[in-house]
Amino acid sequence: MESKIKDLTELLNKYAYEYYTLDKPSVEDAEYDRLYRELETLEQENPHLVRADSPTHRTGDVVLAGFEKYQHEYNLYSLSDAFSREELEDFDERVRKVIPKPEYICELKIDGLSLSLKYAEGKLVAAATRGDGTVGENITENVKRIKDVPLVLKEPVDIVVRGEAYLPRKNFIKLNAERELEGKTSFANPRNAAAGTLRQLDTKEVSKRGLATFLYQEASPATNETQEEVLEYLEKLGLVVNKERVFARNIDEVWSFIERVATMRDTLDYDIDGVVVKLNNLAEQEELGFTVKAPRWAIAYKFPAELAETEILSVDWTV
Ligand code: NAD
Repeated sequence: MESKIKDLTELLNKYAYEYYTLDKPSVEDAEYDRLYRELETLEQENPHLVRADSPTHRTGDVVLAGFEKYQHEYNLYSLSDAFSREELEDFDERVRKVIPKPEYICELKIDGLSLSLKYAEGKLVAAATRGDGTVGENITENVKRIKDVPLVLKEPVDIVVRGEAYLPRKNFIKLNAERELEGKTSFANPRNAAAGTLRQLDTKEVSKRGLATFLYQEASPATNETQEEVLEYLEKLGLVVNKERVFARNIDEVWSFIERVATMRDTLDYDIDGVVVKLNNLAEQEELGFTVKAPRWAIAYKFPAELAETEILSVDWTV
């Protein structure tokens, strides 16, 4: 058992390195998720064999050389996953032990790159990737080239916000067509292209590629009482917030939203890989708190994997 856990840990760390650091995944996300689940189960059954380098105890990636390190004031977390309705029900049951009548907000899970933006007196002063959750990469100059990120907010506030940077599908198709003409390798998917673009050293290239953002969280102490109010507030400040969201009082209502999203998913101009279900009340979120890696007040329902993409192409994002 010990060697099985060691092998899985090493394999998953290798995949995570290829995915987060090199932007060159060698396996499908579904395969990574399956192995991750296997390791999680083995670790739960054998807690004494959990390794210090286990991916189940760490958030994300490492910081690339070439970028300054950025120490986050507020840690960034990952999300726990659910792959079925039953797992959503288990989540709801865990929440109800602490919050008897939860109200949830369901949002789209944008398949891009996690982003943190810091504004001082309303001016954009820093932008960083998530990195390992504590230390990310300082990508301020690149983020300034994303057209929908306001350099100055509509109010002169001090705020740190979180969101996702992504490459709209039409820009992804255009980018790959251009790369093909130039004899360069195509990006495997829009997430890969967004990650590669944001970690470009040439800011002109970032301007050209047409990244976009959705912001969804106030990381600095919130001035609002609910997630819904946070989203409205971010919008009022001039940040882009995704409009597709609903309230839900139980998993039936969550599931209806998931089913609706599954049918309209292909019509969106950006990739999503699931739906994030969050407790709406921020004081209740605080009551539930966090595990080492993820909030206990939220869960990401992941859509079943689509038919395997033809091939995962490796990409040299520095070119
Ligand atoms: P995750 O992508 O599963 O979920 C957490 C992230 O979701 C957050 O950090 C945030 O950036 C994002 N997000 C998007 N919309 C959001 C919203 N509305 N509200 C809150 N968060 C939102 O977790 P992760 O740790 O970033 O990545 C793990 C996943 O990456 C795995 O499940 C796997 O699918 C993939 N992965 C794949 C490989 C591979 O080799 N193919 C390797 C490592 C990881």
